[in-house]
Amino acid sequence: MARRRQLYEGKAKILFEGPEPGTLVQYFKDDATAFNAKKKGTITGKGVLNNRISEYLMTRLAEIGVPTHFIRRLNMREQLIREVEIIPLEVVVRNVAAGSLSQRLGITEGQRLPRSIIEYYYKNDALNDPMVAEEHITCFGWASTQDLDDIVALTLRVNDFLSGLLLGVGITLVDFKLEFGRLWENDEMRIVLADEISPDNCRLWDSKTGEKMDKDRFRRDLGKVEEGYQEVARRLGILPEAGPRDMSGPEVMQ
Ligand code: UDP
Repeated sequence: MARRRQLYEGKAKILFEGPEPGTLVQYFKDDATAFNAKKKGTITGKGVLNNRISEYLMTRLAEIGVPTHFIRRLNMREQLIREVEIIPLEVVVRNVAAGSLSQRLGITEGQRLPRSIIEYYYKNDALNDPMVAEEHITCFGWASTQDLDDIVALTLRVNDFLSGLLLGVGITLVDFKLEFGRLWENDEMRIVLADEISPDNCRLWDSKTGEKMDKDRFRRDLGKVEEGYQEVARRLGILPEAGPRDMSGPEVMQ
């Protein structure tokens, strides 16, 4: 079979041209990076799990009316998505203090925030994804005020829905990062959820023990990294059919 044309390779995913105009194929790698790629490694089976987890969460979100770029999963490591114009922002939501928030402001990790916080980072590796304010975003034209209104409304819905869904399986959604894109249909533009939602870009803690089940296991050398991702998939009821052994296996088209 002729290999599709590769359009972009990121740290954890590759984008290929899709089978129809306006579509792309998103391929999930096992590569892991942290600290703006200063730390590199491989998490065996991560791509397979993130493909499934992101499919599951985006599908549930679509069911409550959150528009996403996701169309369908193609195989173990690939999903078909709509081609969107990515807005160059990382939108971070925090429910519990952790990571850079704790470091920058000296807030104890694990402290529940009195209300959820949304932060914006400008997606630019050369600049180390700096935090920016709404003023920067509109001033430099990365997104309009109307775009930001839509982004905030969608982000809050995603946070409420995912917090509840995860709490139902004993996981606290501490914080996460979203990306959005513009989808053009005829002359109409809609903001839709893009990228992925997985333990690569969420902090997920066991609600009872506080144990971490996300990329912090890799970032902080906590060990049992694969197991963390597997546990999230297991609790969501979506471990690949044959269990963990199935994860680096052949890519069977469905
Ligand atoms: N995050 C991400 N990509 C980034 C930076 C952060 O997906 O480039 C996610 C991260 O996994 C966490 C949340 O955004 O769930 C908040 O991250 P934080 O600002 O605390 O930065 P970190 O401690 O990860 O450097």
